[in-house]
Amino acid sequence: MFRFLLGFICGLLAFNWIQAHTPASLLDYFHSLTNAIGANTKMIEWPVSQKTNSGTGSGSWVHIEAVDNSAKPAMPRVNAMLNNVALPIIKPLVSRLPLVTSDVKLCGTIQSYKSALTSVHVSRADVALISRETGGIAYGNTAIIPLYQQKTDGDLANSLTHELTHVLFNEIGIGNAIPTWINEGLAWTNGIEAQRQVDPNAATQLEQNVRYTISMRAARKGLLPLGADENAILHANYNIEGEDYLAVQLLIQERGAPALSSFLNDLKSMDATTAFQKIYHESIADFNQTFQQQMTTNQ
Ligand SMILES: [Zn+2]
Repeated sequence: MFRFLLGFICGLLAFNWIQAHTPASLLDYFHSLTNAIGANTKMIEWPVSQKTNSGTGSGSWVHIEAVDNSAKPAMPRVNAMLNNVALPIIKPLVSRLPLVTSDVKLCGTIQSYKSALTSVHVSRADVALISRETGGIAYGNTAIIPLYQQKTDGDLANSLTHELTHVLFNEIGIGNAIPTWINEGLAWTNGIEAQRQVDPNAATQLEQNVRYTISMRAARKGLLPLGADENAILHANYNIEGEDYLAVQLLIQERGAPALSSFLNDLKSMDATTAFQKIYHESIADFNQTFQQQMTTNQ
């Protein structure tokens, strides 16, 4: 249940931040980060082949930082998880990785998570709730992971991969263009895939729980349409990200992953409505109908 709650709150966050607060200049942010590298930081490459100018700091990087001393021992584990699990899952989604640094901040305590949240302009009123109830957040090119919320390595793999998926969309400039349900649905897809590689039973359990909950809700005609407005999402009293996840699963199942990659790529040059119609030859509203119907009949 805990992760459902996290997902639900993460959904609220996604709407309020991931799409609305992407820093305008990631390259400036990148430069300020390179100056900040110290004993608590570590950098790994996203794709070796994408590193363009060795030694100059350009290229695609993931910069891992322990925000407090208690997070330091986790750095090698997180490093290995990024290289072996998260990045191989995320990379095939997009044709080219951005030439900017992704920043992963690891928080070992609730105090340091609160500070990290404040540093990315989370309001004072929201910090208390978010620090207790979320498994991670993404803001611009930064993923912040509260280690104390990750009960298992599977949870950690899920959270890291989930947040880095959001970060990647921000970095390639489509964070604002991608519909929330696809943004969250893909972050869930990647997160659960990462968890499956580390802890298959937990991933299967999570997926089954989501399917059960959402199909029960669908049976009562209680699902919001994909792309519901912000107000409706904020007042939805169920795990709407679970719905997003299942919708993206259906999209991948029926039309394949390459089509979804093409759709993401098109978002660099056109709006989501046009891109969806171009790639899938139907509107998002039509796909929503198919999805809702499938959820209702798959009891
Ligand atoms: Zn999310």
